Amino acid sequence: MQVFKFGGATIKDAQAVERMGMILERCHDPLVIVISAMGKTTNALEKVVASYMSGKIPESLDTLKSIQEYHTEIASELTADKNDVLFGEIDNIFAGLQNRLHTLPPASYNEEYDQIVSWGEILSTLIVSHYLNHRGIINQWIDARQILKTDSNFREGRIDWDISSRLVIGKIDFTRSSLFITQGFIGSTVNNLSTTLGREGSDYTAAVLAYILNADSVTVWKDVPGVLNADPKWFDSTVRLEKISYLDAIELTYYGTSVIHPKTIQPLKNKNIPLYVKSFLNPDEPGTVIGRDDYERLIPSFIFKMDQVLIHIHPPDYSFIAEENLEIIFNCFAGYGLKINLMQNSAVSFDVCVNNDQSRIPSVIKELEKHFRVRFTNGLELITIRYYDHETIDRVLVNKDLLLTQRTKTTIQMVVKDLG
Ligand code: ASP
Ligand code: MG
Repeated sequence: MQVFKFGGATIKDAQAVERMGMILERCHDPLVIVISAMGKTTNALEKVVASYMSGKIPESLDTLKSIQEYHTEIASELTADKNDVLFGEIDNIFAGLQNRLHTLPPASYNEEYDQIVSWGEILSTLIVSHYLNHRGIINQWIDARQILKTDSNFREGRIDWDISSRLVIGKIDFTRSSLFITQGFIGSTVNNLSTTLGREGSDYTAAVLAYILNADSVTVWKDVPGVLNADPKWFDSTVRLEKISYLDAIELTYYGTSVIHPKTIQPLKNKNIPLYVKSFLNPDEPGTVIGRDDYERLIPSFIFKMDQVLIHIHPPDYSFIAEENLEIIFNCFAGYGLKINLMQNSAVSFDVCVNNDQSRIPSVIKELEKHFRVRFTNGLELITIRYYDHETIDRVLVNKDLLLTQRTKTTIQMVVKDLG
Protein backbone atom coordinates (compact mmCIF):
# COMPACT_ATOMS: atom_id res chain seq x y z
CA MET A 1 0.00 0.00 0.00
CA GLN A 2 1.00 3.60 -0.46
CA VAL A 3 0.47 6.85 1.43
CA PHE A 4 -0.23 10.07 -0.47
CA LYS A 5 -0.12 13.44 1.21
CA PHE A 6 -1.75 16.52 -0.27
CA GLY A 7 -0.79 19.88 1.21
CA GLY A 8 -2.90 23.01 1.49
CA ALA A 9 -1.84 24.45 -1.87
CA THR A 10 -2.89 21.29 -3.74
CA ILE A 11 -6.48 21.63 -2.51
CA LYS A 12 -6.74 25.40 -2.29
CA ASP A 13 -9.69 25.68 -4.68
CA ALA A 14 -12.19 23.51 -6.56
CA GLN A 15 -9.94 23.18 -9.58
CA ALA A 16 -7.08 21.91 -7.45
CA VAL A 17 -9.34 19.32 -5.81
CA GLU A 18 -10.42 18.15 -9.27
CA ARG A 19 -6.79 17.76 -10.27
CA MET A 20 -6.21 15.74 -7.13
CA GLY A 21 -9.04 13.42 -8.24
CA MET A 22 -7.21 12.96 -11.53
CA ILE A 23 -4.03 11.94 -9.77
CA LEU A 24 -5.95 9.42 -7.65
CA GLU A 25 -7.59 7.87 -10.69
CA ARG A 26 -4.15 6.88 -11.94
CA CYS A 27 -3.20 5.00 -8.77
CA HIS A 28 -4.52 1.47 -8.39
CA ASP A 29 -2.75 0.44 -5.18
CA PRO A 30 -4.47 0.39 -1.81
CA LEU A 31 -4.01 3.93 -0.60
CA VAL A 32 -4.22 6.15 2.46
CA ILE A 33 -4.53 9.85 1.68
CA VAL A 34 -3.48 12.41 4.24
CA ILE A 35 -4.76 15.92 3.67
CA SER A 36 -3.92 19.34 5.10
CA ALA A 37 -6.31 22.22 5.57
CA MET A 38 -7.28 24.03 2.37
CA GLY A 39 -5.02 26.87 1.23
CA LYS A 40 -4.18 29.21 4.08
CA THR A 41 -6.96 28.00 6.39
CA THR A 42 -4.63 27.14 9.28
CA ASN A 43 -3.26 30.69 9.32
CA ALA A 44 -6.79 32.04 9.29
CA LEU A 45 -7.86 29.75 12.15
CA GLU A 46 -4.80 30.89 14.10
CA LYS A 47 -6.10 34.42 13.70
CA VAL A 48 -9.49 33.35 15.03
CA VAL A 49 -7.80 31.92 18.12
CA ALA A 50 -5.60 34.98 18.64
CA SER A 51 -8.50 37.44 18.52
CA TYR A 52 -10.79 35.22 20.59
CA MET A 53 -8.18 34.71 23.30
CA SER A 54 -7.52 38.43 23.50
CA GLY A 55 -11.22 39.13 23.90
CA LYS A 56 -11.81 40.52 20.40
CA ILE A 57 -14.88 38.39 19.74
CA PRO A 58 -16.37 40.31 16.77
CA GLU A 59 -13.03 40.14 15.01
CA SER A 60 -12.74 36.40 15.60
CA LEU A 61 -16.29 35.87 14.32
CA ASP A 62 -15.52 37.89 11.19
CA THR A 63 -12.47 35.79 10.39
CA LEU A 64 -14.45 32.62 11.07
CA LYS A 65 -17.16 33.81 8.69
CA SER A 66 -14.66 34.30 5.88
CA ILE A 67 -13.31 30.80 6.48
CA GLN A 68 -16.86 29.45 6.27
CA GLU A 69 -17.52 31.28 3.02
CA TYR A 70 -14.28 30.01 1.54
CA HIS A 71 -15.13 26.38 2.31
CA THR A 72 -18.78 26.65 1.32
CA GLU A 73 -17.78 28.12 -2.01
CA ILE A 74 -15.35 25.31 -2.78
CA ALA A 75 -17.92 22.73 -1.68
CA SER A 76 -20.57 24.36 -3.92
CA GLU A 77 -18.29 24.32 -6.93
CA LEU A 78 -17.56 20.65 -6.38
CA THR A 79 -21.06 19.46 -5.50
CA ALA A 80 -23.90 19.71 -7.99
CA ASP A 81 -26.65 18.82 -5.49
CA LYS A 82 -27.23 21.84 -3.28
CA ASN A 83 -29.10 19.65 -0.78
CA ASP A 84 -26.13 17.36 -0.28
CA VAL A 85 -25.57 16.45 3.37
CA LEU A 86 -22.09 17.94 3.04
CA PHE A 87 -23.47 21.47 3.38
CA GLY A 88 -25.22 20.57 6.62
CA GLU A 89 -22.01 19.08 7.96
CA ILE A 90 -20.04 22.22 7.11
CA ASP A 91 -22.68 24.47 8.67
CA ASN A 92 -22.72 22.35 11.84
CA ILE A 93 -19.00 22.68 12.26
CA PHE A 94 -19.15 26.46 11.95
CA ALA A 95 -22.17 26.71 14.25
CA GLY A 96 -20.19 24.76 16.86
CA LEU A 97 -17.20 27.05 16.45
CA GLN A 98 -19.36 30.17 16.69
CA ASN A 99 -20.88 28.93 19.94
CA ARG A 100 -17.41 28.32 21.24
CA LEU A 101 -16.39 31.90 20.46
CA HIS A 102 -19.39 33.19 22.42
CA THR A 103 -18.16 31.64 25.64
CA LEU A 104 -15.43 33.18 27.79
CA PRO A 105 -11.92 32.33 26.61
CA PRO A 106 -10.37 29.54 28.70
CA ALA A 107 -7.01 29.83 30.44
CA SER A 108 -4.83 27.68 28.25
CA TYR A 109 -3.98 29.28 24.91
CA ASN A 110 -2.32 26.21 23.44
CA GLU A 111 -5.13 23.83 24.40
CA GLU A 112 -7.76 26.14 22.95
CA TYR A 113 -5.64 26.64 19.84
CA ASP A 114 -5.80 22.91 19.12
CA GLN A 115 -9.55 22.69 19.74
CA ILE A 116 -10.15 25.37 17.10
CA VAL A 117 -7.32 25.03 14.57
CA SER A 118 -7.84 21.27 14.13
CA TRP A 119 -11.15 21.91 12.33
CA GLY A 120 -9.32 23.07 9.20
CA GLU A 121 -8.29 19.52 8.40
CA ILE A 122 -11.69 18.04 9.30
CA LEU A 123 -13.35 20.45 6.87
CA SER A 124 -10.93 19.82 4.01
CA THR A 125 -11.15 16.04 4.31
CA LEU A 126 -14.97 16.07 4.50
CA ILE A 127 -15.20 18.14 1.33
CA VAL A 128 -12.60 16.10 -0.55
CA SER A 129 -14.01 12.76 0.57
CA HIS A 130 -17.53 13.73 -0.52
CA TYR A 131 -16.33 15.01 -3.83
CA LEU A 132 -14.30 11.89 -4.57
CA ASN A 133 -17.18 9.57 -3.67
CA HIS A 134 -19.42 11.50 -6.07
CA ARG A 135 -16.78 11.21 -8.75
CA GLY A 136 -16.74 7.44 -8.29
CA ILE A 137 -13.48 7.34 -6.38
CA ILE A 138 -14.99 5.46 -3.48
CA ASN A 139 -13.28 6.15 -0.20
CA GLN A 140 -13.67 5.82 3.51
CA TRP A 141 -13.28 8.98 5.64
CA ILE A 142 -11.40 8.47 8.89
CA ASP A 143 -11.19 10.87 11.82
CA ALA A 144 -7.46 11.06 12.63
CA ARG A 145 -8.35 12.00 16.20
CA GLN A 146 -9.66 8.47 16.65
CA ILE A 147 -6.50 6.77 15.46
CA LEU A 148 -3.58 9.01 16.37
CA LYS A 149 -3.24 9.44 20.11
CA THR A 150 -0.82 11.98 21.51
CA ASP A 151 0.23 13.34 24.87
CA SER A 152 -1.34 16.61 25.99
CA ASN A 153 1.54 18.76 24.82
CA PHE A 154 -0.86 20.97 22.87
CA ARG A 155 0.40 22.45 19.57
CA GLU A 156 3.30 19.97 19.53
CA GLY A 157 1.55 16.72 20.41
CA ARG A 158 3.84 13.69 20.64
CA ILE A 159 2.49 10.46 19.19
CA ASP A 160 1.82 7.54 21.51
CA TRP A 161 3.07 4.86 19.13
CA ASP A 162 1.65 1.83 20.96
CA ILE A 163 -1.92 2.99 21.26
CA SER A 164 -1.89 4.66 17.84
CA SER A 165 -0.54 1.55 16.11
CA ARG A 166 -3.34 -0.56 17.51
CA LEU A 167 -6.00 1.97 16.55
CA VAL A 168 -4.60 2.60 13.06
CA ILE A 169 -4.36 -1.09 12.22
CA GLY A 170 -7.89 -1.65 13.56
CA LYS A 171 -9.44 1.16 11.50
CA ILE A 172 -7.43 1.13 8.29
CA ASP A 173 -8.40 -2.29 7.09
CA PHE A 174 -7.88 -2.78 3.36
CA THR A 175 -10.35 -5.62 3.23
CA ARG A 176 -13.06 -3.03 3.85
CA SER A 177 -11.92 -0.33 1.43
CA SER A 178 -8.93 0.29 -0.76
CA LEU A 179 -8.93 4.04 -0.23
CA PHE A 180 -8.91 5.84 3.10
CA ILE A 181 -8.88 9.59 3.59
CA THR A 182 -7.74 11.18 6.80
CA GLN A 183 -6.40 14.45 8.19
CA GLY A 184 -2.80 15.41 8.57
CA PHE A 185 -1.56 17.48 11.50
CA ILE A 186 -4.17 16.43 14.08
CA GLY A 187 -4.67 13.79 16.73
CA SER A 188 -6.18 13.65 20.19
CA THR A 189 -5.32 12.92 23.79
CA VAL A 190 -6.57 9.81 25.54
CA ASN A 191 -9.31 12.09 26.93
CA ASN A 192 -10.31 12.94 23.36
CA LEU A 193 -9.18 16.55 23.38
CA SER A 194 -7.92 17.50 19.94
CA THR A 195 -4.20 18.07 19.54
CA THR A 196 -2.01 19.29 16.70
CA LEU A 197 1.44 18.03 15.81
CA GLY A 198 3.19 21.33 15.02
CA ARG A 199 2.74 23.64 12.03
CA GLU A 200 3.13 21.95 8.67
CA GLY A 201 2.81 18.64 10.50
CA SER A 202 0.74 16.80 7.88
CA ASP A 203 3.85 15.32 6.30
CA TYR A 204 4.67 13.83 9.65
CA THR A 205 1.20 12.25 9.88
CA ALA A 206 1.81 10.64 6.49
CA ALA A 207 5.12 9.23 7.74
CA VAL A 208 3.58 7.94 10.98
CA LEU A 209 0.82 6.11 9.12
CA ALA A 210 3.30 4.74 6.58
CA TYR A 211 5.44 3.43 9.40
CA ILE A 212 2.56 1.76 11.22
CA LEU A 213 1.05 0.29 8.05
CA ASN A 214 4.41 -0.75 6.53
CA ALA A 215 3.74 1.28 3.39
CA ASP A 216 5.73 0.68 0.22
CA SER A 217 6.21 4.42 -0.22
CA VAL A 218 4.99 7.87 0.71
CA THR A 219 4.33 10.52 -1.93
CA VAL A 220 4.02 14.14 -0.95
CA TRP A 221 2.24 16.08 -3.72
CA LYS A 222 3.34 19.69 -3.90
CA ASP A 223 3.04 22.80 -6.00
CA VAL A 224 6.79 22.63 -6.72
CA PRO A 225 8.62 20.12 -8.96
CA GLY A 226 10.39 18.41 -6.05
CA VAL A 227 13.04 19.37 -3.52
CA LEU A 228 15.09 22.20 -4.97
CA ASN A 229 18.59 23.24 -3.94
CA ALA A 230 17.30 26.70 -3.04
CA ASP A 231 14.03 28.56 -2.66
CA PRO A 232 13.09 30.15 -6.02
CA LYS A 233 11.91 33.13 -3.98
CA TRP A 234 15.56 34.08 -3.37
CA PHE A 235 17.36 32.44 -6.31
CA ASP A 236 16.86 32.89 -10.05
CA SER A 237 18.29 29.54 -10.98
CA THR A 238 17.47 26.57 -8.83
CA VAL A 239 18.16 22.89 -9.45
CA ARG A 240 15.88 19.99 -8.56
CA LEU A 241 17.60 17.40 -6.40
CA GLU A 242 16.87 14.01 -7.95
CA LYS A 243 17.80 11.77 -5.04
CA ILE A 244 18.49 12.70 -1.45
CA SER A 245 19.67 10.36 1.29
CA TYR A 246 17.62 10.20 4.50
CA LEU A 247 20.51 11.79 6.33
CA ASP A 248 20.76 14.73 3.94
CA ALA A 249 17.00 15.14 4.05
CA ILE A 250 17.02 15.27 7.84
CA GLU A 251 19.82 17.83 7.80
CA LEU A 252 18.28 19.96 5.05
CA THR A 253 14.84 20.03 6.65
CA TYR A 254 16.32 20.65 10.07
CA TYR A 255 18.06 23.75 8.74
CA GLY A 256 14.84 24.93 7.18
CA THR A 257 14.29 23.50 3.69
CA SER A 258 10.57 24.00 3.84
CA VAL A 259 9.45 21.35 1.35
CA ILE A 260 8.93 18.68 4.00
CA HIS A 261 8.52 18.77 7.73
CA PRO A 262 11.75 17.77 9.54
CA LYS A 263 10.06 15.14 11.73
CA THR A 264 8.89 13.25 8.63
CA ILE A 265 12.11 11.50 7.74
CA GLN A 266 12.90 9.54 10.88
CA PRO A 267 9.95 7.09 10.87
CA LEU A 268 10.50 6.47 7.16
CA LYS A 269 14.21 5.88 7.55
CA ASN A 270 13.56 3.39 10.33
CA LYS A 271 11.62 1.20 7.94
CA ASN A 272 13.43 2.16 4.75
CA ILE A 273 10.28 3.55 3.18
CA PRO A 274 11.08 5.86 0.25
CA LEU A 275 9.56 9.33 0.18
CA TYR A 276 8.69 10.87 -3.17
CA VAL A 277 8.15 14.60 -3.48
CA LYS A 278 6.22 15.22 -6.68
CA SER A 279 4.54 18.03 -8.55
CA PHE A 280 0.75 17.78 -8.60
CA LEU A 281 0.76 20.01 -11.67
CA ASN A 282 3.06 17.61 -13.57
CA PRO A 283 2.47 14.20 -12.00
CA ASP A 284 4.52 12.44 -14.67
CA GLU A 285 7.68 14.35 -13.80
CA PRO A 286 10.07 12.36 -11.61
CA GLY A 287 10.25 14.79 -8.66
CA THR A 288 12.64 13.94 -5.86
CA VAL A 289 13.12 10.66 -4.07
CA ILE A 290 14.41 10.54 -0.52
CA GLY A 291 15.78 7.17 0.43
CA ARG A 292 18.82 5.02 1.04
CA ASP A 293 21.83 6.57 2.70
CA ASP A 294 24.35 5.68 0.03
CA TYR A 295 23.42 8.42 -2.41
CA GLU A 296 26.26 10.62 -3.57
CA ARG A 297 27.19 14.04 -2.21
CA LEU A 298 24.72 16.70 -3.28
CA ILE A 299 25.34 19.95 -5.08
CA PRO A 300 25.29 22.96 -2.71
CA SER A 301 21.88 23.64 -1.20
CA PHE A 302 20.91 27.02 0.19
CA ILE A 303 18.48 27.72 2.97
CA PHE A 304 17.54 31.29 3.82
CA LYS A 305 15.68 32.18 6.99
CA MET A 306 14.53 35.75 7.09
CA ASP A 307 13.42 37.89 10.02
CA GLN A 308 15.89 36.44 12.48
CA VAL A 309 16.83 37.80 15.88
CA LEU A 310 20.29 37.37 17.36
CA ILE A 311 20.23 37.31 21.16
CA HIS A 312 23.55 38.03 22.82
CA ILE A 313 23.79 36.83 26.41
CA HIS A 314 26.66 37.40 28.83
CA PRO A 315 27.01 37.06 32.60
CA PRO A 316 27.22 40.49 34.26
CA ASP A 317 30.38 39.57 36.18
CA TYR A 318 32.12 38.18 33.09
CA SER A 319 32.12 34.72 34.60
CA PHE A 320 32.61 31.92 32.12
CA ILE A 321 29.74 30.48 30.14
CA ALA A 322 29.84 27.12 31.85
CA GLU A 323 27.37 24.34 32.58
CA GLU A 324 25.37 26.21 35.24
CA ASN A 325 24.83 29.20 32.97
CA LEU A 326 23.95 26.98 30.05
CA GLU A 327 21.41 25.16 32.16
CA ILE A 328 19.63 28.41 32.98
CA ILE A 329 19.75 29.54 29.36
CA PHE A 330 18.44 26.28 27.88
CA ASN A 331 15.73 25.92 30.50
CA CYS A 332 14.54 29.36 29.63
CA PHE A 333 14.34 28.72 25.86
CA ALA A 334 12.73 25.31 26.37
CA GLY A 335 10.33 26.62 29.00
CA TYR A 336 8.91 29.24 26.64
CA GLY A 337 9.07 26.96 23.59
CA LEU A 338 11.38 29.30 21.67
CA LYS A 339 13.23 27.23 19.09
CA ILE A 340 16.92 27.86 18.61
CA ASN A 341 18.09 28.04 14.99
CA LEU A 342 21.77 28.41 15.81
CA MET A 343 23.87 28.93 18.91
CA GLN A 344 27.48 29.74 19.60
CA ASN A 345 29.43 30.46 22.73
CA SER A 346 32.68 32.16 23.59
CA ALA A 347 34.33 32.22 27.01
CA VAL A 348 32.02 34.88 28.40
CA SER A 349 29.11 35.14 26.02
CA PHE A 350 26.44 33.06 24.35
CA ASP A 351 24.72 33.94 21.08
CA VAL A 352 21.42 32.48 19.97
CA CYS A 353 19.67 33.02 16.64
CA VAL A 354 15.88 32.55 16.63
CA ASN A 355 12.87 33.35 14.45
CA ASN A 356 11.28 36.67 15.32
CA ASP A 357 8.52 35.07 17.40
CA GLN A 358 7.03 37.96 19.33
CA SER A 359 4.70 35.69 21.30
CA ARG A 360 7.76 34.18 22.99
CA ILE A 361 10.87 36.40 22.67
CA PRO A 362 9.87 39.15 25.15
CA SER A 363 9.22 36.58 27.93
CA VAL A 364 12.48 34.78 27.22
CA ILE A 365 14.48 38.01 27.34
CA LYS A 366 12.77 39.12 30.55
CA GLU A 367 13.60 35.81 32.17
CA LEU A 368 17.21 35.84 30.95
CA GLU A 369 17.70 39.37 32.24
CA LYS A 370 17.25 38.07 35.78
CA HIS A 371 20.65 36.39 35.40
CA PHE A 372 22.48 37.96 32.46
CA ARG A 373 23.07 41.05 30.42
CA VAL A 374 21.10 40.59 27.23
CA ARG A 375 21.28 42.44 23.90
CA PHE A 376 19.44 41.56 20.77
CA THR A 377 19.50 42.56 17.11
CA ASN A 378 16.43 42.28 14.88
CA GLY A 379 16.03 42.11 11.13
CA LEU A 380 18.75 39.58 10.37
CA GLU A 381 19.00 36.62 8.01
CA LEU A 382 20.30 33.15 8.68
CA ILE A 383 21.92 31.59 5.63
CA THR A 384 22.73 27.90 5.63
CA ILE A 385 24.67 26.19 2.85
CA ARG A 386 24.98 22.43 2.88
CA TYR A 387 27.88 21.13 0.80
CA TYR A 388 29.29 24.64 0.53
CA ASP A 389 32.35 25.81 -1.33
CA HIS A 390 34.06 29.20 -1.43
CA GLU A 391 32.26 30.31 -4.50
CA THR A 392 28.84 29.67 -2.96
CA ILE A 393 29.78 31.52 0.22
CA ASP A 394 31.02 34.55 -1.72
CA ARG A 395 27.88 34.48 -3.77
CA VAL A 396 25.49 34.79 -0.82
CA LEU A 397 27.57 37.35 1.05
CA VAL A 398 27.33 40.07 -1.58
CA ASN A 399 26.02 43.19 0.13
CA LYS A 400 25.74 41.52 3.55
CA ASP A 401 27.38 42.27 6.83
CA LEU A 402 28.51 38.97 8.37
CA LEU A 403 27.81 38.87 12.11
CA LEU A 404 28.43 35.24 13.00
CA THR A 405 29.65 32.09 11.25
CA GLN A 406 29.56 28.46 12.20
CA ARG A 407 30.85 25.66 10.03
CA THR A 408 31.28 21.91 9.94
CA LYS A 409 32.76 19.89 7.11
CA THR A 410 29.48 19.79 5.25
CA THR A 411 27.50 22.79 6.42
CA ILE A 412 28.11 26.48 6.95
CA GLN A 413 25.69 28.80 8.72
CA MET A 414 25.96 32.57 8.69
CA VAL A 415 23.96 35.22 10.46
CA VAL A 416 24.01 38.33 8.30
CA LYS A 417 22.53 41.77 8.03
CA ASP A 418 21.38 42.84 4.62
CA LEU A 419 23.04 46.11 3.63
CA GLY A 420 20.29 46.93 1.20
N1 ASP B 1 -2.54 22.75 7.96
C1 ASP B 1 -1.40 22.64 8.83
C2 ASP B 1 -0.51 23.83 8.64
O1 ASP B 1 -0.72 24.62 7.73
C3 ASP B 1 -0.65 21.37 8.66
C4 ASP B 1 0.03 21.21 7.32
O2 ASP B 1 -0.30 21.92 6.37
O3 ASP B 1 0.90 20.37 7.21
O4 ASP B 1 0.40 24.01 9.40
MG1 MG C 1 -0.94 23.75 5.50
